[in-house]
Amino acid sequence: MTDRLRVLVVDHTGDLGGAELALVRACEALGDHVTVRVLLFEDGPLRGRLEQAGVRVDVLPISRAVGGMDRRRAGRLSPRHVVTAVRVAAYGVRLTGRLRRLRPDVVHTTSLKADLVTLVPARLTRTPLVWHVHDRIADDYLPPRLVRLVRRAARVPQAVVVNSRATAATLPVETVLAYPGYAPGQASAPRAAAPAGPPVVGIVGRLSPTKGQLELVRATPAILARHPDARVRVVGAPTFGAEEHAELLHSEAVRLGVSDHVEWVGFRADTAAELDEMTVCVHASPVPEPFGQVVVEAMVRGVPVVATRAGGVTEILAPDGEPTGDPLGLLVPPGDVDALAAAVIEVLDDPAAAARRGRAAFASASERFPVARTAATLTRTWRRVAGVPYPGPRP
Ligand code: UDP
Repeated sequence: MTDRLRVLVVDHTGDLGGAELALVRACEALGDHVTVRVLLFEDGPLRGRLEQAGVRVDVLPISRAVGGMDRRRAGRLSPRHVVTAVRVAAYGVRLTGRLRRLRPDVVHTTSLKADLVTLVPARLTRTPLVWHVHDRIADDYLPPRLVRLVRRAARVPQAVVVNSRATAATLPVETVLAYPGYAPGQASAPRAAAPAGPPVVGIVGRLSPTKGQLELVRATPAILARHPDARVRVVGAPTFGAEEHAELLHSEAVRLGVSDHVEWVGFRADTAAELDEMTVCVHASPVPEPFGQVVVEAMVRGVPVVATRAGGVTEILAPDGEPTGDPLGLLVPPGDVDALAAAVIEVLDDPAAAARRGRAAFASASERFPVARTAATLTRTWRRVAGVPYPGPRP
């Protein structure tokens, strides 16, 4: 018998979404008492990133019709769903076989598809199951039918880990809070001053209607009216089928006559270098986000933040996680383009005040969000559900 806890993490995607990057960072921060192995429903760049972190990865491919189904369609019922249900059941049988062979101490699922597909295999093999929920399970974020299903099913796992209080508030069960943490290499010393040269207004994230790039493009004419030399840098690429949205963003910049001032950077593996160029980092999601790792990443580089007041972002920008006291960045109502422009202009007009907020944000985020805390919480949760409360040899 080994004294290491063996955890099988299950994720549906091989893409590098925020939850997947958070998983890589958490794996890097785990101590010697835990061995994580990852099972993906499809291959993709995530596999290489995990393997670089020393994690063994298996791919158990799922039918495209299931793996590629988006959440909007997942909420509807149709004859195609019957076929999908049969395929999910067949996949469940294969997954059960895999769990029987690997015999992990804990199975930890990190996406809604993985959460649901793994419920029965975990039960059949009597493997303790931990859900890691990265989405707000709410009608303003997911299709209502899916919301009802996930809320009901959330009673089954032995533990449910959430990425924010905002996510916890959408679930009807007791949860364990594990904020996605930043890796030591993502932080810097606090900024002494804004970068020299023309102001850079940056936004980082996959290109998507939920991420607020459209609102920033629409705020750009007003920003340029006040700061004609400003540049807007959009860092990120469309993922999860959002290519059409990327085209809409480009044509909106042309329509508004600001395309000369907007730089489409694409996906960057090193977002810290991008953040260091920014005078202000914008997080303009028009919908309440479950968390918003980009906000933390800007804070730990001392970059002033302008964000929408909704979901987990409000929590990140509130000192001590409570929405009282001076927020650590400027908050604007979701979807309000004029307010967004005004807040960006406020940062550019008053760099001293922005730098003060940036320093407070740096101190708060450095203390609240290091990935070592995430790893410690996950390890404690796994040990609890596996019945091995302390590190060391198991009974
Ligand atoms: N990210 C990245 N390169 C890019 C754009 C984004 O590495 O070009 C990373 C970003 O640094 C963050 C993650 O993707 O770690 C996005 O996580 P977040 O919680 O902000 O959003 P999600 O995609 O999970 O909704």
